[in-house]
Amino acid sequence: VTPKCTWALGKSQSESPHQNLPRHEPKVGSSIMSTVLEMVGNTPLVRLDKIAKMEGLECELLAKCEFFNAGGSVKDRIGHRMIEEAERDGILKPGDTVIEPTSGNTGVGLALVAAVKGYKCIICIPEKMSNEKISVLKALGAEVIRTPTEAAFDTPESHVGVSWKLKNEIPNSHILDQYRNPGNPLAHYDGTAEEIIAQCGGKLDMIIAGAGTGGTVAGIGRKIKEKLPKVKVVGVDPEGSILAYPDELNVPGEGTAYQVEGIGYDFIPTVFDRSVVDEWYKSGDQETFDYARKLIRVEGLLAGGSSGSALSVAVKAARSLKAGQKCVVILPDSIRNYLTKFVDDRWMQYNGFMDPSSKPSWWDVPV
Ligand code: PMP
Repeated sequence: VTPKCTWALGKSQSESPHQNLPRHEPKVGSSIMSTVLEMVGNTPLVRLDKIAKMEGLECELLAKCEFFNAGGSVKDRIGHRMIEEAERDGILKPGDTVIEPTSGNTGVGLALVAAVKGYKCIICIPEKMSNEKISVLKALGAEVIRTPTEAAFDTPESHVGVSWKLKNEIPNSHILDQYRNPGNPLAHYDGTAEEIIAQCGGKLDMIIAGAGTGGTVAGIGRKIKEKLPKVKVVGVDPEGSILAYPDELNVPGEGTAYQVEGIGYDFIPTVFDRSVVDEWYKSGDQETFDYARKLIRVEGLLAGGSSGSALSVAVKAARSLKAGQKCVVILPDSIRNYLTKFVDDRWMQYNGFMDPSSKPSWWDVPV
């Protein structure tokens, strides 16, 4: 399938077919927030100088730390946006139920907004996803339904299939549908991308993001292509997934059993305009977890597994950049989701990702 450019890149923002919402400005200093939802967006951009030096990169390596969002991930942005748009459009009314198929973080984002605003929430999530995510969802009052990881998205038993069945059975229930809802990429087009451009002072050379629904990379990529057309947009897709392009990158026969959560899919979501991605890299689980652990140990950034995938690609892709150029890597979620997974040595050893007899070379970091 050749990705179709659904929007002529390079056109001015005012000509965009999308509804552009102004960026939510950060609250300053000691002002009181009316709810925790004001803590969605406006995340920090942090230098990764030590990793850049260790990897021999000349450019500035910068991390957009999405784990500082209220619910702990980049997907809080879309949970917030999709619910508020559904309210504004008169779709979602007090007492209604929100149902969503998700790999977890969108579920947490929606459940958080639902808890604050008083909606019921049902989350359908594949078995593979961490128990930490399930505990958070339940603590937020969501009902959680786990579905077989191996079920293809278009089967009745998959997280997508079960969600639609429930929607047909439960009165006043809605699937906001991150795979098709324009609010998903638009949360990044209007928010994340504008923040990055402002934080970089309008000068940026490369942006690297993993893809699940593709909303993050497509939304950020589209805005950046419009405002700064020379920036290279790099997509990250796990081995075993089919999102990368050209299709030959997705070597057939490797199966779909990758352990990293939140990135990769067995179909191309409607929201995912792959034409904004200039180059794709595949990421493997070993390098993913090694780099996630390295990021935590070396830079003190308490990020999740897919952040490791993005960083493992950044240290390769940013090699082409020179001193003074900037590469931004998106860190989508937090260590919180993986305390019993890649953060735990026993899990790493059990899954063959870590040799119990030796420490990684970067463990004793030079100051
Ligand atoms: N990393 C993690 C941990 C995620 O949960 C997600 C969302 N599925 C992503 C990356 C990718 O985000 P997107 O769906 O916007 O492509």
